Amino acid sequence: MIKTDVVIIGAGPVGLFAVHQLGINGLKSEVIDNLDKAGGQCIELYPDKPIYDIPGIPICTGEELTKNLLNQIKPFKSNFHFNERVQEISEENNKWIVKTNKNKIFIAPNIIIAGGVGSFEPRKLSVKEAEKHEGKSILYSVSDKSKFKGKKVSIFGGGDSALDWALELSKISRVTLIHRRDEFRGASHTAKEITKLANAGKLALKTKYQLVSIEGDKNIKSITIKNDEEKTVKIETDYILSFFGLIMKLGPIAEWGLNIDKKTILVNTENFETNKKGIFAIGDICTYPGKLKLILSGFHETALASVECFKRAKPNEKYKFQFTTSSKEIQERLGIKTK
Ligand SMILES: Cc1cc2nc3c(=O)[nH]c(=O)nc-3n(C[C@H](O)[C@H](O)[C@H](O)COP(=O)(O)OP(=O)(O)OC[C@H]3O[C@@H](n4cnc5c(N)ncnc54)[C@H](O)[C@@H]3O)c2cc1C
Repeated sequence: MIKTDVVIIGAGPVGLFAVHQLGINGLKSEVIDNLDKAGGQCIELYPDKPIYDIPGIPICTGEELTKNLLNQIKPFKSNFHFNERVQEISEENNKWIVKTNKNKIFIAPNIIIAGGVGSFEPRKLSVKEAEKHEGKSILYSVSDKSKFKGKKVSIFGGGDSALDWALELSKISRVTLIHRRDEFRGASHTAKEITKLANAGKLALKTKYQLVSIEGDKNIKSITIKNDEEKTVKIETDYILSFFGLIMKLGPIAEWGLNIDKKTILVNTENFETNKKGIFAIGDICTYPGKLKLILSGFHETALASVECFKRAKPNEKYKFQFTTSSKEIQERLGIKTK
């Protein structure tokens, strides 16, 4: 069981800044996200797009903002638990127990839900044999590419992830790239590289094909695909990598007894607490009169929620309002050497 002051659900921009605001107040936090990396919508939906309304930063991309936030919270050494969805919460002696789908358990007086539009989940393969192979030989993201060395890998999708991994793995595996259309959605220069590799026989390309079935009991042996003319092809396969994009689901958050209004959580604007003591909601997932779904609103909500988290985590200490420019205590927490 991991003990901490605050469990943060969601590593989007707002969840990341929560680590900072809690950290400067002397609170420890653990961050859980269903995705394999930090950044939420900024990284998943618009990493290269410019943002123009972050105070003090005239322009930065979604990726740059994420990198800067990660840099800013380095001093607090928070642990990140990626690829884990928070599934259940329960109360015990005025503390919250938080359980993930991988059975990791946390205990804390506070939970901050910074879950955005819900957890991003991969769109799964729809053939019935897929489920038993998921997480073993059917994967929706890659954490360790070495397992594909010398293996036969069938990659599905036509976006950047599918193209990038087809290029990368073609160096170490026997790759077949399968896409239901003729054109790719991914970057045109990557698509050109793929065609070049296919023409050179270094990668097999099957466009206008879709998955029909998966053969093999314990391990996958082959897959069958078919095209628009109903022509079927069997392909020997050890691993399937499927990149059909992400869907957003409010998921388990909807079942925690919180006051929900149109897939968002109602909070008070004094401290962004929900109807449950010690559970806060900030960023896109919270709602209140006048709420704007902007990153800067989320940052403000974070600051106020962290004050209330302090009071619950350290009931015997008095909260002190301090400026970062002049507080030696905060500067020490930030690792800044003061005279
Ligand atoms: C194309 C586009 C352009 C935008 N441009 C701007 C702009 O210019 N300026 C601006 O201010 N805003 C902009 N936004 C909005 C901005 O991106 C959001 O306001 C911001 O991302 C909200 O941050 P967040 O941290 O609340 O949520 P998110 O970024 O949505 O992150 C939430 C995270 O929580 C995780 N999560 C959810 N539920 C669970 C669970 N149960 N377990 C584990 N993890 C979970 C998700 O996987 C996700 O990573 C834009 C949005 C889009 C789509």
